[in-house]
Amino acid sequence: RPAALEARDLSVVYPGSRGRAPARAVDGVNLRIGQGEIVALIGESGCGKSTLARALVGLVKPTSGQVLYQDTPLGYSAKALKQYRRHTQLVLQDPGGALNPKQNVYDAVALGPRLHGLRDGLPERVHGALARAGLRPPEEFAGRYPHELSGGQQQRVVIAGVLALDPRVIVADEPVASLDASVRGEILKLILHLRDELGLSALVVSHDLGLAWNIADRVAVMYLGRIVEQGTVEEVLLRPQHPYTKALLSVIPTGAEDWRPTLLTGEPPDPTAIPAGCRFHPRCGRWAAASEPERAEAACDRRELPVLAADGYRAACHLLHTDALTESV
Ligand code: SF4
Ligand code: MG
Repeated sequence: RPAALEARDLSVVYPGSRGRAPARAVDGVNLRIGQGEIVALIGESGCGKSTLARALVGLVKPTSGQVLYQDTPLGYSAKALKQYRRHTQLVLQDPGGALNPKQNVYDAVALGPRLHGLRDGLPERVHGALARAGLRPPEEFAGRYPHELSGGQQQRVVIAGVLALDPRVIVADEPVASLDASVRGEILKLILHLRDELGLSALVVSHDLGLAWNIADRVAVMYLGRIVEQGTVEEVLLRPQHPYTKALLSVIPTGAEDWRPTLLTGEPPDPTAIPAGCRFHPRCGRWAAASEPERAEAACDRRELPVLAADGYRAACHLLHTDALTESV
């Protein structure tokens, strides 16, 4: 598939303030979102998912590496960014917070088109976007205010505001985390529908594995600023290879008698102090359980792992089959 959006060897380092070390929030990421593809980016909070999402929509400038939109590197002049943001839109977690309580639905959805000077046929554009976001009949919703809407309807208004700009890619950061279970399914269905009907591509950032399973074509697992495993949904969620992915998945009850979650011990990940070698090694059960000769050979605490390439199935771990690793360098 041709790429809609791509991160190439992307890093975002926040400078440390008041004597604190800089934080390597994103530390060498290759990630590709194909046209008409939904990619889920999963990992614990604080692993750099949100920073990566913001870098992909041009809200955060990478310290090094590139963002490519349809194979063209993103420019960071105000003009280039404005044009880019029309095509690539960010949807955030809290729809209530994204809407101005004093602004009715029409004006909320018209905001983006007005900023981009799309004044011709604005009412049709706004009503069309409301209808595509499932707020029908649009004329009825246009005059309402946020407090007259449910959480799910508010998130649909936010999505309509995005659709009003005819974007090609949506980057959604925990889009349903603040919604009720009943509404979550609706919003996820809407994202799938937009992919199928409009050929939209999406990166959906979440810590929710069930969401990834329900919505994504591919999954990327992030740990301390790096993608540690990626592949199709089936590869990553049904046959995970990386010890971190396995630990994340192990918390889902299987119903089996011998089911036990793998608890991640050790310090929570800190992007200001990334461990040497494999950055997961202080918390890795596989490394802890390795025999002496295996430990010596793998050298997880000293030997860096290669950055994963954007394509195909990959997991970055010294103790996995080495062919997969050599390919990925
Ligand atoms: Fe664990 Fe070593 Fe694999 Fe890292 S490289 S995930 S420490 S086994
Ligand atoms: Mg986040």
